[in-house]
Amino acid sequence: MSESTKKLTCTIPGSLWSALEERMQRTGETLDQVVANSLNEELGLTQHTIFQVSTSGALVKGVYQGFVRMGDIKRHGDFGLGTFDSLDGEGIMLEGHCYRAGSNGTVSEVSENVLTPFWVTTKFQTDRKEDFQNVLHLEDLCDRLSAMRPSDNLMAAIRIDGIFSSIKVRVACKAEAGVDLVSAMAHQHEFSYQNIKGTLIGFYTPEYARTINVPGYHLHFLSSDRICGGHVLNLKATLLSVAVEITSDFHVALPENQAFLLADLTGDPAAQLSKAEGSSR
Ligand SMILES: [Zn+2]
Repeated sequence: MSESTKKLTCTIPGSLWSALEERMQRTGETLDQVVANSLNEELGLTQHTIFQVSTSGALVKGVYQGFVRMGDIKRHGDFGLGTFDSLDGEGIMLEGHCYRAGSNGTVSEVSENVLTPFWVTTKFQTDRKEDFQNVLHLEDLCDRLSAMRPSDNLMAAIRIDGIFSSIKVRVACKAEAGVDLVSAMAHQHEFSYQNIKGTLIGFYTPEYARTINVPGYHLHFLSSDRICGGHVLNLKATLLSVAVEITSDFHVALPENQAFLLADLTGDPAAQLSKAEGSSR
């Protein structure tokens, strides 16, 4: 599904060929898949992988204590979103740089030692590209993004560049430990911008994974001058350049701190998530 592919011709020992055939028979993989996966592993590449720390269900229950350094997150991706220790702002990662949109709406780059309690990242690679004209609102954008995905059951990373005739974002404010997400988000700040150039960074998560990540579309905004940003609530635009990465490879690292170990993560967090995140399907 990548934009460019190359044909590989090489000579290998007969014993290795037999092992390859055995593997293909056993797993049903094609030769191309086995070779690509083996080379990825050997060369240390993790293509089309989404890597996440903690779960949306844990956030809903107030498990906001940062436990992974942003420097470690960067080993898994150059693109993504999340939040920071105690829900202190909105996290945005673009082209290997990590930013925090603070409660006054302004953005600053964060150091590698800053801790995150929840982050989603990927080494972004475009599978599908399209231009959207006259996007009326967030729901309209989500409908058109859905038409670009082959299935509702795979995850996707989404990068959108353009000039937004209007965009409304919110920024979380620092919460006390143990305060649940809905209560914490009651103190969010909202900001609106007009005719602003920037990028949307986001993910699509299947409905069945709603205890793990925010189901539907979750988009953060970063202005091209890197001055403002936040979690997207609504928008309008005349022309947007949209790139989508589809992936079936999803890795989750769970916290081992007491707050996570002792949290009651049973039940369905979807209603609270949708209330707190203003998420769209
Ligand atoms: Zn968000």
